Amino acid sequence: MNRTEELQKLRERARALEHRLVSLNKRMEQIQNRRPGPCRYRAVVDFEQCIACGKCEKICPQGAITVNETANVNPQLCIGCGLCVDKCPQGALSLVLTQNAESTTRPFRTMRRLRRAI
Ligand code: SF4
Ligand code: SF4
Repeated sequence: MNRTEELQKLRERARALEHRLVSLNKRMEQIQNRRPGPCRYRAVVDFEQCIACGKCEKICPQGAITVNETANVNPQLCIGCGLCVDKCPQGALSLVLTQNAESTTRPFRTMRRLRRAI
């Protein structure tokens, strides 16, 4: 790889990292500013679209996703933060409104794991 190609690749990586950082900061801000009370959203998987890449499992701050042949979301752990939705390269995850959503009881655990994921 010559000098020009290497610079080009590094610029592309820097742009991707900047984009990711903006996205993560936005999510942290949303979580920090979230009003107390039940979150009414949960992530759901479109099994037809999922390619089992595991990116959502890695990013989930709650450990709510397991990936075997496809991703699966544990609705008892999901807090509806949307990080997995942003991360999925297939658009296989989305947030849905739930009627009987439980209150999130783990804000500290969420922030700690989120910082670890950055
Ligand atoms: S990130 Fe998307 S495609 Fe990858 S395992 Fe999760 S749901 Fe499937
Ligand atoms: S919405 Fe957040 S908590 Fe729920 S599965 Fe996705 S990353 Fe995990």
